[in-house]
Amino acid sequence: MTSPTPMSDTIEIKLEPMYAINANCHVCGSVENYNGEIFGTADNDMRICPDCLKAGTEEIDRRLEHLAQIWDARARWTRSLIGRLKLPD
Ligand SMILES: [Zn+2]
Repeated sequence: MTSPTPMSDTIEIKLEPMYAINANCHVCGSVENYNGEIFGTADNDMRICPDCLKAGTEEIDRRLEHLAQIWDARARWTRSLIGRLKLPD
């Protein structure tokens, strides 16, 4: 088992073909089927889709922030449900 990468360390991205159904991109959040397209990957299981790879570092950072904002909103909504769900009798 590998230890988690410290949150401040640089993550080296490698290029490799992706063969997967419903593979998600950790930068833009898209989910697609891939048959050998080149992905960015890292030892921490990170995946970057071909579109984000082409976008470049500055755009990748913008996309990461956008995805983080979506997840923050989803987390707030999920927490707002705690204690409010009345299941059928
Ligand atoms: Zn992407």
